[in-house]
Amino acid sequence: MKKYIFVTGGVCSSLGKGIAAASLGSLLELRDLRIRMAKIDPYINVDAGTMSPYQHGEVYVTDDGAETDLDLGNYARFTSSPLGRANSITTGQIYQEVIQREREGRYLGRTVQVIPHITDRIKQRILAVGEHPEVDVTIVEVGGTVGDIESVPFLEAARQMMHELGHENVLSVHLTLIPEVAGSELKTKPTQHSVKELRAIGVQPDILLCRAPRQLDDDMRRKIALFTNVPFEAVVSAYDVESTIYEIPLIFARQSLDVIVLDRLGLEYGECDLSPWEHVVDVFRQSEQTVRIAVVGKYIELHDSYKSVDEALYHGGIANDHRVQLVKVDSELLERMETDEDIADALGDVDGILVPGGFGSRGIEGMVRAARYARTNGVPYFGICLGLQVMVIEYARSVLELDEADSTEFRPDGPHPVVSLLEEQVDVRNYGGTMRLGASDSHLLAGSLIRDVYGEPVVRERHRHRYEVSNRYRQMIEEAGLMVTGVTPDHSLVESVQWADHPWGIGVQFHPEFRSKPTAAHPLFAGFVEQSIAHRVRRESQVEVEAGA
Ligand code: GLN
Repeated sequence: MKKYIFVTGGVCSSLGKGIAAASLGSLLELRDLRIRMAKIDPYINVDAGTMSPYQHGEVYVTDDGAETDLDLGNYARFTSSPLGRANSITTGQIYQEVIQREREGRYLGRTVQVIPHITDRIKQRILAVGEHPEVDVTIVEVGGTVGDIESVPFLEAARQMMHELGHENVLSVHLTLIPEVAGSELKTKPTQHSVKELRAIGVQPDILLCRAPRQLDDDMRRKIALFTNVPFEAVVSAYDVESTIYEIPLIFARQSLDVIVLDRLGLEYGECDLSPWEHVVDVFRQSEQTVRIAVVGKYIELHDSYKSVDEALYHGGIANDHRVQLVKVDSELLERMETDEDIADALGDVDGILVPGGFGSRGIEGMVRAARYARTNGVPYFGICLGLQVMVIEYARSVLELDEADSTEFRPDGPHPVVSLLEEQVDVRNYGGTMRLGASDSHLLAGSLIRDVYGEPVVRERHRHRYEVSNRYRQMIEEAGLMVTGVTPDHSLVESVQWADHPWGIGVQFHPEFRSKPTAAHPLFAGFVEQSIAHRVRRESQVEVEAGA
């Protein structure tokens, strides 16, 4: 019998439900269970593709080209659940699917209603996630907070599943907040209310994950258990971590969350080896070996807008036994600076520079200046998607002396569109202006840095972009010294570039960050951080020589 776990949230949003769900998934996998993860987003948007990173954080892209909520990125980093279009469920999709069936006449003249038609469709989508015969447990995270109008049909579907499949097969995990008020007192009242709300819609939580600034004592846990009808041992203290979110599986394991879940679901399980997480946490805890990496982008204010890039950089650090310190640089600030010396001052104390993906013209000139600084000063540079396009623009301007080189995304009628839509490039037609989304192959040039880093001639990475390096300028750019090191299998599009005379300057048109894990860093991030460490060593020895002279 297949098992299902619903993870809901109470009191307020942003308590880390995604990471909690993913951590539980990881612990189950470490006990040899085969799991699948799914996220429900109760908003009306069909997917996250149209949502601003300012509002919603990063858009996570799957192999099959779905543009999803960033929590899928957490699942990818913590578990090995395959993730695709099917694992991201929104109100928009459910209604779209039901309405389409209604138009096709598939409801045979009946009135189409939230119960049962919407809830049936929700259940079908949830069951489909774990339908593979090998899957033991499907973990479904319900976005939003219990009590939101939007989440009602999803919670109702969860209630029905408990009723239909039996409570021994469907488990409810509820994450709530235990806030601290004046005098550092922890308060359980909001949790009591949140559980009451959940019970009002017919769902009794089996496990409570209580997010609090510090560990809950047993008295407090007992009190929560009493008020909520949850067994004492299932009141888990999800206290704030000191160094890294990757500690959360360990915190849960220490309180036997996995065992409680598995016993409750009547599943057999093996021993659990936590050493991969222990190693990850050890690297974050040690403070001596630090490398500073600048991320130069325009969505800097919002913490989560480059989530997968930030995490992948940390993974690169773990692979090199170094703690990565991220220096978020607002590209608009660089743009406004008067002189190149100002840029050097702003970026002088970083060991590597990364320009991540992005859309729209804001802040582009700042990114171009950052790329120029990295290229001319031998600072390791990693350009991702927009970061590659910026490399091409900068090179065309500085080395080919095409001062007005630009992407048509930022300057539609410029004289030198070195990056443009395919349809604007005369020799390629019929592609249209649509986004290139999802995984596809790239062929890497023998002898290039990127080929060495991957150790493979053909790689498969995910894309999410509209503009391409122009084939009209490609030869000119290559002859000037910006190597094209990766192309699509038909050679028609540029997938990666490299500065010829530079220790490590790589741009990729795809998004390697989506595939990186703390326990298995993506080779490009591991390589970039390794070279940034080498650059720091070079910098330090230079300072010593100067001091000695
Ligand atoms: N805006 C650029 C494009 O559409 C880059 C996209 C990105 O960085 N994801 O091609």
